[in-house]
Amino acid sequence: MSTISIEKIIDLSTADPNFKNEVVNEPGGEHLKKCFQCSSCTLTCPVTDAGFDFNPRKIIRQVLLGMRKEVLESTAIWQCVGCYECTDRCPQNVRFTEIIEALRRIAVRNTKNKDKKKRTKLPKQGRLKHSFDKRFSESIWLWGRTWEPEYIGRYFMYGRGLPFGALIGFRYISMILGMLKKFKIEFFPPGFHPWNSNARKVRKIYKKAKSIQK
Ligand code: SF4
Ligand code: SF4
Repeated sequence: MSTISIEKIIDLSTADPNFKNEVVNEPGGEHLKKCFQCSSCTLTCPVTDAGFDFNPRKIIRQVLLGMRKEVLESTAIWQCVGCYECTDRCPQNVRFTEIIEALRRIAVRNTKNKDKKKRTKLPKQGRLKHSFDKRFSESIWLWGRTWEPEYIGRYFMYGRGLPFGALIGFRYISMILGMLKKFKIEFFPPGFHPWNSNARKVRKIYKKAKSIQK
């Protein structure tokens, strides 16, 4: 006689049936419902292959089932490295890499949701990744391209919280000095000031992208 394992039972009593529509309406999530669960994405994913608890097919299934909290508060959505292998192999053009980006944006946005039931809490991995992305994009906005000492310094100080962030940064001081010595990172910012013409051009692109989002 066969037995059913308790771990395999999914509790859908708190599921949100609208979650899949929220993802479909987010840029990048449009093709979600075309997934027919073939697993090609999972079989081709280098992160899954490396032994991480990460399964693209399962994430799509959870979204379709409305498992909002389980997906948005999981570390899984922060493990994708954006290599696009799954997107390349998917027979249904689901574009999982972009779905992951959509899920990350929804997760970050919902940390401030006024509706407590929908409010999400980012795992540590998510908070760090989001903080790094934010400093990276702010650096491009400021200088016209990234200036590593500036954005990595700010990432350690603000992203990881003062004073511990600054202390963690000191752990890398010998590596940073070594890279400066070999001219692998620039001591001065590109263009030397944030008012250079390239920075101004880049800010126009940011402005346009923001206006399209609205
Ligand atoms: S490869 Fe495409 S259709 Fe197959 S499970 Fe992954 S996302 Fe779904
Ligand atoms: S883009 Fe992400 S999910 Fe897709 S194969 Fe690469 S690491 Fe895996």
